[in-house]
Amino acid sequence: VAKENRRGSGELFDSNYERNSRHRMSLLSDIRQAIDSKELYLVMQPKVNSADLSIMGYEALLRWEHELQGNIPPDAFIPAVEKSGLYYDVDLYVAQATCDLINQNKQLSHPISINLSANSLNHETFVEDLHNVFIRNQVPLNRVELEITENALIHSETAIRELDRLAAYGFTICLDDFGAGYSSLGYLLRLPLHTIKIDRAFVSHLEGNQKAQVVLEGIINMGQKLGKEMIVEGVETQAQLVLVREMGVEHIQGFYFFKPMKIEQILELQSQYKL
Ligand code: C2E
Ligand code: MG
Ligand code: MG
Ligand code: MG
Repeated sequence: VAKENRRGSGELFDSNYERNSRHRMSLLSDIRQAIDSKELYLVMQPKVNSADLSIMGYEALLRWEHELQGNIPPDAFIPAVEKSGLYYDVDLYVAQATCDLINQNKQLSHPISINLSANSLNHETFVEDLHNVFIRNQVPLNRVELEITENALIHSETAIRELDRLAAYGFTICLDDFGAGYSSLGYLLRLPLHTIKIDRAFVSHLEGNQKAQVVLEGIINMGQKLGKEMIVEGVETQAQLVLVREMGVEHIQGFYFFKPMKIEQILELQSQYKL
């Protein structure tokens, strides 16, 4: 069910599209255009404190309202963006869009996490370009958190160095999808991480699975002992909530609480809950 919901109206979109290279070319020029014409926009998914389930932040997630294809989900176009040079522009676009959201909605009260392509960190100009977006828009860095998946970091000394520079500028950094790929535990020691977000695969196998529970609890405890803030994503059921709460994780994100929403709905939610 969750998967269907997640895809939503993205059903219109043919998932073979990006595998076909002729189509990939046109997809990329479409994305280029979408950036220019602002067909790309951000929705936000609230994250909650596990103690009282109050909202403590939002994750901004990219959506593409394509004039012909309808709503295209990020999993259908981010991979193509990653393979092309467009990730750099997309990341700066997302940063700018986040600043716009913050500046145009002063009542927005919690930090916003944005997802960056780790590929951008292989460019030595990126950190400064990103920082400049927030400076130019007068958005304090403590209003944002940067989510980066470890995959592209793994083989790149440059990316790790640039990540250190981001942290030195004062950005808060979250390692996203932890445990999903070839996680090297050594990274937890090397990277300047504030937060670790455990991949939702660990949550989806929890119920009735003692071993999966041991692994997840172990990761949470380890992260906490290293001084990291731990968050789990993909909590879809009350049973999962109960389990991860007992494990002492600080923050939770998942469809059980909130789906990604447009800014109007976020503001409505905030006013309802007087957050
Ligand atoms: P992610 O950063 O790990 O984001 C979490 C994804 O899980 C989101 O999917 C979110 O809607 C979904 N999700 C949240 N709670 C649940 C749940 O309880 N169950 C299930 N099944 N899914 C849940 P979305 O929005 O489709 O994004 C997919 C991926 O696309 C993101 O994974 C991220 O890697 C990438 N992405 C999204 N927005 C951006 C962006 O602005 N820039 C970049 N570079 N990548 C982005
Ligand atoms: Mg993320
Ligand atoms: Mg994730
Ligand atoms: Mg992901």
